[in-house]
Amino acid sequence: MSSTAKSSSVGVSIRSAEKHYGAFRALDNVSLEVAPGEFVSVLGPSGSGKTTLLGILGGFVQPTSGSVWLGDRDITFAPPHKRDIGIVFQNYALFPHMSVGENVAFPLRARRLPKADWPERVKAALAMVELSGFENRRISALSGGQRQRVALARAMIFEPRLILMDEPLSALDKQLRETMQIELRHLHRKLGATIIYVTHDQREALTMSDRIAIMNRGRIVQIDAPEVLHDHPADSFVAGFIGEATLLRVQNVAIGGHAVRLGGTVLQSARPVPVSNEIFLVLHAEKLVIAGPETAAGMNRLSGTVTEIVYQGESIRVFLTLENGDSLSFRQPANHLGRQLIPPPGNPLTLALHPEDTIIVPKAV
Ligand code: ATP
Repeated sequence: MSSTAKSSSVGVSIRSAEKHYGAFRALDNVSLEVAPGEFVSVLGPSGSGKTTLLGILGGFVQPTSGSVWLGDRDITFAPPHKRDIGIVFQNYALFPHMSVGENVAFPLRARRLPKADWPERVKAALAMVELSGFENRRISALSGGQRQRVALARAMIFEPRLILMDEPLSALDKQLRETMQIELRHLHRKLGATIIYVTHDQREALTMSDRIAIMNRGRIVQIDAPEVLHDHPADSFVAGFIGEATLLRVQNVAIGGHAVRLGGTVLQSARPVPVSNEIFLVLHAEKLVIAGPETAAGMNRLSGTVTEIVYQGESIRVFLTLENGDSLSFRQPANHLGRQLIPPPGNPLTLALHPEDTIIVPKAV
């Protein structure tokens, strides 16, 4: 939960929501509790139900069953404009024929708030997104990032207690997107509003969120803080979706133990091996290091042959085929020392992995 939550921000909950389209379940028994002032991202592959979930919160999609609460108010059947929710979509949905000021004032008009108050509120909303003085500009005379900020100002002008965002940065180029991610984080802290943010970009979700809800096939499979999600994935789906990981099928050595077998190699995990018919070792590219004489005795070791070395600017990605035939990749810093440690393709290499970083997950159901 954000420590800067304003008293006006409000928690949201979705309880046992279902959305069926004929026999197809776009949402399958979804429950979600978001605390006042919290920034929660909803992350998942295409078609996993993210937009449907946001639509149910915004009132554009009627759930087949279940309920939606804003604080202690049941809004399941409230129309969108009566929900006190600000919404920002990926295509901005600005009115091109209106000025920036008219666009930002639009929700005030729709809510029939006194016209005398508009200029002051527009000014304050534009200042919030650092567009002071842009009132009379045409939308067509703005950059993508500026348009996105106008859309934000418009969503915030009536001081909604909840803001929903659906891929709001996806139309921007990489650099601007990253700048806007940091700006959104600042804005969130400043406003203290509750934000629910849909994205399919894991870096974006990791950068901005207090918690991330991972969706797959209409269900929330895990909801946790970014580092928890990354280091303690609930199953093979989450592990494959978050971070850069190789998943290798392994065997449990003994029920209730901490060891798994990969070919002829036994690896120790700091945590008990989950009980499941099928288990996977999750190897994050950044957690594998090249073993050397100074490598501690308690580290797990994986030996193989280097097959490919790919220079990617800030890091070098190295591909390795293990003795049992499985393949993995890891990253090495692209500095002088880092490069020196990588033998050319065709040569043997041993990697070390700390038991704390030795993650074992059950197969996703
Ligand atoms: P994306 O990242 O591609 O936007 P998403 O996770 O937001 O995907 P949704 O748009 O929520 O996914 O859709 C979830 C599923 O529900 C999809 O399989 C979609 O085809 C289906 N769906 C959505 N709306 C309808 C509809 N009106 N009628 C039938 N099926 C629908």
